[in-house]
Amino acid sequence: MPGMNDFAGKTALVTGGGTGLGLEVSTRLGRRGARVVCASRDTAHHAELIERGRAEGFEVVSVELDVADPAQVKDVVRGLDRVDVLINNAAGNFIRPAMALAPKAFSTVIDIALNGVFYMSRECGRKMRETGGAIVNISAPYAFSGKPGVVHSACAKAGVESMTKTLAAEWSEHKIRVNAVSPGPFRSDGAAERLWPSDEIEQAVLNQIPAGRFGTVAEIAKLVCLLASDEASWITGSILVADGGWTLPPPLPGGKVQRRR
Ligand code: NAP
Repeated sequence: MPGMNDFAGKTALVTGGGTGLGLEVSTRLGRRGARVVCASRDTAHHAELIERGRAEGFEVVSVELDVADPAQVKDVVRGLDRVDVLINNAAGNFIRPAMALAPKAFSTVIDIALNGVFYMSRECGRKMRETGGAIVNISAPYAFSGKPGVVHSACAKAGVESMTKTLAAEWSEHKIRVNAVSPGPFRSDGAAERLWPSDEIEQAVLNQIPAGRFGTVAEIAKLVCLLASDEASWITGSILVADGGWTLPPPLPGGKVQRRR
C-alpha cells in the first residue's frame, strides 16, 4: 500500500479536476499530501473539491483555464512555483455519427482533448525538467479499437496515446515519466447525459461490458494515482487499460470455448 502522505510537498495539477474522474483523482492526491491545482474553464465546478480540501485539510488552488488556449496554459503554468504531477484529464465528448459531425465540432474536441494535452504537457514538462515529475493522461480504449459515433474523441485519444509514448521516450532523461490510463465506460458527472442519454443506449453499452457493469471513478482514480506516484518509478510510456473487458472479443455462441475433436 502506498504511504498516506507520499505526495507531501508535491504540487499536482489536475485539468478538469473539479468533476467526475478529475474530482476523485484530485481528492485522492490531496488526501495523500499533494497541493492540488484544479484547472478548468468554470471555477464554479471546483466548489466540491474546495469544500473537501477545507474539511479534510489539504490545499486546493482553483484556477480558471481553457486548456485549448496555449497562451492561457503558458500563463497559468508559468505562474506556479513547481509542478510535480500533471493529470491531463480534461476532455469533451458526445455521440455523433461522423457524417453528421460538423468540422468545427471535430476540431473543438481535438483542440481540448489532444492539443490541450500537448500544451499542458509542454509547459509542465519545461517546469518538471528541473525536479523530475510524472504525467498521467486519460485516454479511452477506442483509441485503438475505434468506436462508431465518437470519431472526434477516438482520434484525439489515439493522438494522446502516441504522445504518451513519444514524450515518455523523449523526457526520460529529465526524470519525467509519462503514462496513460485508458478507462472503459464509467459513471461521471458528464458521461450519462452525453454518452448514454437513454435507458436503451445505457443497456446496450452495459451489454458490451463482460464484467456486466460500468466502472467507478474510484476504480479508475486509484490507477491514475498509482502511475503518478513513486510506486510506479520504473513505469513510463505505458497505457493501462481498465475496462471490465469492454474491448475483448465477445464469447462464442453459448458462452463456451468450442474445442475441436
Ligand atoms: P466530466 O465529468 O465531464 O469532466 C470533464 C472535465 O473537463 C470538466 O471538469 C470540465 O470542466 C473539464 N474541461 C472540459 N473542457 C475543458 C477545457 N477546454 N479546459 C479545461 N477544462 C475543461 O468527464 P469524465 O467522464 O469524468 O471524464 C474524465 C476523463 O475520462 C476524460 O478525459 C474522458 O475523455 C475520459 N473517459 C471517460 C469515460 C467515461 O465513461 N466517463 C470513458 C473513457 C474515458 P469545465 O467545464 O469547468 O471546463
